[in-house]
Amino acid sequence: MYELEGSGDTATIMNGDAVTGAKDIFDKCFSYTIAKETMARGVYPYFIPLALNQGSEAVVRGHRLIMCGSNDYLGLTAHPKVREAGIEAIRVYGSSCTGSRFLNGTLELHEELERELAEWVGKPAALTFSTGMQTNLGVISALVGRGDTVVLDKDDHASLLDGARLSYGSMRRFRHNDVEHLDAVLARVPRDQGVLVVVDGVFSMEGDVAPLPDIAEVCGRHGARLMVDDAHGLGVMGGGRGTAHHFGVTEGTDLIMSTFSKSLASLGGFVAGDADVIHYMKHHARSLIFSASPTPANTACALAALQVMREEPERTERVHANVEKIRRGLTALGFDVGCSVTPILPVLMGDDELTFVFWKMLFEAGVFVNAIISPAVAPGRQILRTSYMATHTDDQLDRVLEAFAEVGRKVGLI
Ligand code: PMP
Repeated sequence: MYELEGSGDTATIMNGDAVTGAKDIFDKCFSYTIAKETMARGVYPYFIPLALNQGSEAVVRGHRLIMCGSNDYLGLTAHPKVREAGIEAIRVYGSSCTGSRFLNGTLELHEELERELAEWVGKPAALTFSTGMQTNLGVISALVGRGDTVVLDKDDHASLLDGARLSYGSMRRFRHNDVEHLDAVLARVPRDQGVLVVVDGVFSMEGDVAPLPDIAEVCGRHGARLMVDDAHGLGVMGGGRGTAHHFGVTEGTDLIMSTFSKSLASLGGFVAGDADVIHYMKHHARSLIFSASPTPANTACALAALQVMREEPERTERVHANVEKIRRGLTALGFDVGCSVTPILPVLMGDDELTFVFWKMLFEAGVFVNAIISPAVAPGRQILRTSYMATHTDDQLDRVLEAFAEVGRKVGLI
């Protein structure tokens, strides 16, 4: 029963309101059936509850699976030093900071991590946030004010798009990795506007890389600042230091952003750049100021993962060797794996139903991958997003290739 505002009356409101004739805000939920239909067909690939996640292996309802859908590229979530660091941080600092970085939630540990991250990516200063999503929301909306413009690649991550939407500036987009188009878009922005160009270093769905040297050159020519989201590049590209380092354009990349939820085996995010810009962000990024800081355990795990990354550079080499084996194997089998040069390997399905059915058959064959459909990829570009870890064994990778071969033949894709 709901009280009708101002009337003193009560009425039962279900699926539109017969009493007031008012539109029910819940109508969209009651008529949302597409996911339920996929569930009814038994091929729903989302929100799968893992009973156990041990790096390259997961257990779902007693069924053991090789994990080819994780962003734990270096396999550090299972590393004893990383696990121990998290446990020890809870012993020392407790379970939560219960406040934002701005007020009571800054630990010495956060500042230590910021110094280490800044040094690792080659920038003077860094600032940690509670997630990568919050980093992008906070950074872009703090920088791009009224009378400014933010320019995004068409395939940029949703968090970048949402950061741009939250800002008071205008947004423009350029065709994916098309530097000439970026040049043309920048040429049309009035000279009196501040401009931030934002691209992914490694694109999260298809694993291709932004042509950063050309992008940095175009930005420099137009007086625009460049921000790179390196969620999937840190730990993987440039000996682990990221995509800007890989291309030798750290200086020309004004802001480097990344997350802890991939190679850093934790939860949180950071942005690194000029000390004055980071100082400004500390006092203007609303997702930092109005949200509790990364927990002690998350912070300590990210710090430990960064140290392991530094001490064990062979992990970065190993993950590339692992994905190379699968890339060659799937290509030889006749699959289309796009133009990835990273541990993210998309396998083109091109159709929702095939994506779901192939996903389910791989699952039954003991391989966990991610089913990606529009709007995360363009219509017609539906993929199984597979991703590899430094800790996958040769035997596991052979079994993945066998499963793809078997399912691919059964459904007639190869
Ligand atoms: N940027 C990119 C490119 C990502 O892929 C993601 C997460 N998938 C994020 C930002 C958000 O990071 P987080 O998971 O830490 O919120």
